[in-house]
Parts: sequence; structure tokens; C-alpha cells
Amino acid sequence: MQLRPHHILDIISNFGKGAEFQPHPYGHSLHIVALKLLSDLDLKIKLVLNADDICKECKHLMPDGKCNDVLGQLNPSPSKQAYNDVLDCRLFDLFALKINTVLTLRKYLEMVNDNVPGIERICTHPKEDQENRLKGLMAGLIKLGVRKPI
Ligand code: SF4
Repeated sequence: MQLRPHHILDIISNFGKGAEFQPHPYGHSLHIVALKLLSDLDLKIKLVLNADDICKECKHLMPDGKCNDVLGQLNPSPSKQAYNDVLDCRLFDLFALKINTVLTLRKYLEMVNDNVPGIERICTHPKEDQENRLKGLMAGLIKLGVRKPI
């Protein structure tokens, strides 16, 4: 499975907050990918810096493989493609991982856990509460058995 590093963090954080993964109006595959990930930590994932398995079927995925969506929570609204690329580059840098690294989800989440707290300063989205993001990540990692409960 090919995934952007931050898309996995979005799933773990939302899972920790108790979100249910339902089909989205964009048509993307987040709900399908989330269930696969959360049910098998030994799944092999390829960390990519481009459209990933979540983007499949999304109405914003253009034929050239780029995302034409924007960050609507900001005005003016920047390109989501550029925003995602910068965010994921920061995560590749934090983990000292090369683009297209293949590893198990468990291994990746252990690396995430080693950077909690702290990683929320990178992966919190604009207008999202940083503390809430951190709480979601920690709760998600605990629910998946990657992090010990406090
Ligand atoms: S990054 Fe863009 S193409 Fe991918 S799921 Fe999100 S909106 Fe759709």
C-alpha cells in the first residue's frame, strides 16, 4: 500500500478521537484504507511523496497525478498539493527516511511514537488545535498497542 506519511497520522489521530471512517463526498478511499491499516499493523507500506492509495477515486486527483484541491480553511487558500508535499518532506526529514521507503505499519508507528510529543508541531493542520491533535495521536497509538497507557 502506498501512503503519504501524514495521511497515516491523520488516520491514527482521528481513530484516537473515536472517529468512524465513512465514505467522503470527495469520493476518495480514506475509509477503505483506514480499515485496512487499523486491522493489520504488519501491513507493508511504501511511504510516498505523491498521490497515494487514499487519493484513489478522489474527484480532486487530476490525470497528471496532482491534487487540485485547496486548503479551504485559509483565506487565501493555498494549494493542497504544495502544502502536502512540504508537510511530508518535513516528516521524511524528521524520521530520516528516504522517499519510497517500505516498512511495516507497526515500524512506522513506533517511529511516530518515539516523536510523541513533538510531532504534533509538524503535523497539525491549519486551524486544527495542536493539543487536540496530540491527544488523538496518543490515544490512537495506545488503542493500537504501540504506546503504553499512562
Ligand atoms: S490529497 Fe487531494 S487528491 Fe488526495 S485525497 Fe486529498 S483532496 Fe483528494
